[in-house]
Amino acid sequence: MPLQATERLYTQDDHCFETGAMVIAIQDKRFALDRTCFHPGGGGQPADNGFATLPDGRMVEIESAYSDEDQVIWHVCNSTLDENLTGQTISVRINDKRRLAFARYHTVLHVLNTIALRDYNGWITGVQIGEDYSRIDFNLENFSAIISAELESKVNAVLQSDHHIRSYYISEEEFQTRKDLLRTLDVKPPVVDGKVRVVEISDFDAQACGGTHVDSTLEVGRFSIFRTDNKGRKNKRLYIKLDI
Ligand SMILES: [Zn+2]
Repeated sequence: MPLQATERLYTQDDHCFETGAMVIAIQDKRFALDRTCFHPGGGGQPADNGFATLPDGRMVEIESAYSDEDQVIWHVCNSTLDENLTGQTISVRINDKRRLAFARYHTVLHVLNTIALRDYNGWITGVQIGEDYSRIDFNLENFSAIISAELESKVNAVLQSDHHIRSYYISEEEFQTRKDLLRTLDVKPPVVDGKVRVVEISDFDAQACGGTHVDSTLEVGRFSIFRTDNKGRKNKRLYIKLDI
């Protein structure tokens, strides 16, 4: 019998960094919980790491996490867990400093991809979010140093305007009629229980996304593009950085 899908606490509260939860399965160095604050990675956002505190007070490092095809999130440890823990409640905590960096980069990614599409017809073809910088690939024709500078100043103007960010769900059927929620032509957004998550930056943009974000664009910091590479005729790779 397949395991029950993991309740994803980070989709309800971007600042849920710690939770108690019941162990529902253990396989070697991996375990699954009924609910978790760990993001399993996806859409260019790396999986969270952190640690678990067991009922006897012992702490176990969680090196990574991933979601399987049944939407069960597995926490990957650096040691094998005792199978007697199944059915017990443990507590898990993510590395919140690392997660907040991902949330800031994920938020600026929404601002950048919206301006790139609106003003330059640029679609995203790939993203790799990091703690110190991120890398974004766009299908952008006629990209130049002038357009790079324009992108920087337009993105920073939005960030400084204190737009608030919230998320909600729509049905998969409604999503099929909402092409305006897409920023990439290559990757389908995650559908969980027949629903698609929408992340909205008030008075600016709404797009499908399963990642984590900050509450206001003011929390993102100052945006800059510090390097650009050509990846084929139309594909441009932008390296971006945020400074608080
Ligand atoms: Zn996002």
